[in-house]
Amino acid sequence: MIVILKQNPQQAQVDRLVAWLNEQGYGTNVSVGKQETIIGLIGDMSNVDMDLIRSLEVVDDVKRISEPYKNANRKFHTDDSVIDAGGVKIGGGHFQVIAGPCSVESREQVKEIAKCVKAAGATLLRGGAFTPRTSPYSFQGLREEGINILLEAKAETGLPIVTEIMDASHLPLFADVDVIQVGARNMQNFELLRALGEAGKPILLKRGLANTLQELLMSAEYIMASGNPNVILCERGIRTFETATRNTLDLSAVPVLHRLSHLPVIVDPSHATGESWLVKPTSVASAAIGADGIMLEVHNDPPHALCDGAQALTCEAFFDVMGAVTAVRSAVFSAEE
Ligand code: PEP
Ligand code: MN
Repeated sequence: MIVILKQNPQQAQVDRLVAWLNEQGYGTNVSVGKQETIIGLIGDMSNVDMDLIRSLEVVDDVKRISEPYKNANRKFHTDDSVIDAGGVKIGGGHFQVIAGPCSVESREQVKEIAKCVKAAGATLLRGGAFTPRTSPYSFQGLREEGINILLEAKAETGLPIVTEIMDASHLPLFADVDVIQVGARNMQNFELLRALGEAGKPILLKRGLANTLQELLMSAEYIMASGNPNVILCERGIRTFETATRNTLDLSAVPVLHRLSHLPVIVDPSHATGESWLVKPTSVASAAIGADGIMLEVHNDPPHALCDGAQALTCEAFFDVMGAVTAVRSAVFSAEE
């Protein structure tokens, strides 16, 4: 981190600032140029209060020259992380497709969808048991029963399961869940992230509706700093001024996150676009841009879905998307693999 001083500071001011910074525990390296005096800070910068330093009278600006996340940072872990999600590897060239309904609605519904997505080539089964809904009057999910239904589908198909947690107090119910999802609305629920850090299971961390990539990585950092390195990042669209799609898919997040971090990055084209006809082109694009996987909502009867029917693929449409994604992956990556 560097502290840039206002022009022509008095030596006494510089000395006082250096003494104060040293008192705070930072080493200092003062560089006096023709135009500017700059103080380089040395040491662990993860807790620096940049606004406080910036508010000091002699200071013009403060800039970070390294990122505030250590565990998630590619600088300290140059190889891609490969995460074992219930026996299925994600990251480092391992591409996975997570598919299933938005919400678990019934045993029959989940079993039918699970069979279909498995036959089409999905490698993990998703389904919301605790479902975050904008309205308290909408279907809220089957909760514990929903998790049990997913576990039955796992036993029948062999597909590991991914389902969302909304409160750390529910963790005991997730004991046999393979991947715990943190939804967009909880990306910065720091107490939940900390509890998941202690839980040790793979965590699928979705980007918040209005969060930067740095904020997403800082949330991953919460989980990792609490002892759990198994974090999968998920781009699921962000809120912008555009209203033509449910959210705006930030596809460039994939290569940016890959550059900044060693963690696997997947894309959720269903929530990003909100409409089933947009899921195929965005899935293909996600695969081509180098995502480590995609997560798609599939329903056996979309017009009667209790949640997110408009973005749900039918089983037939899911087969079609899988074919296109597989073809694009082999066209783009076969030479590299
Ligand atoms: C989901 O994947 O079920 C979900 C609710 O998505 P998001 O948190 O991205 O809105
Ligand atoms: Mn949904």
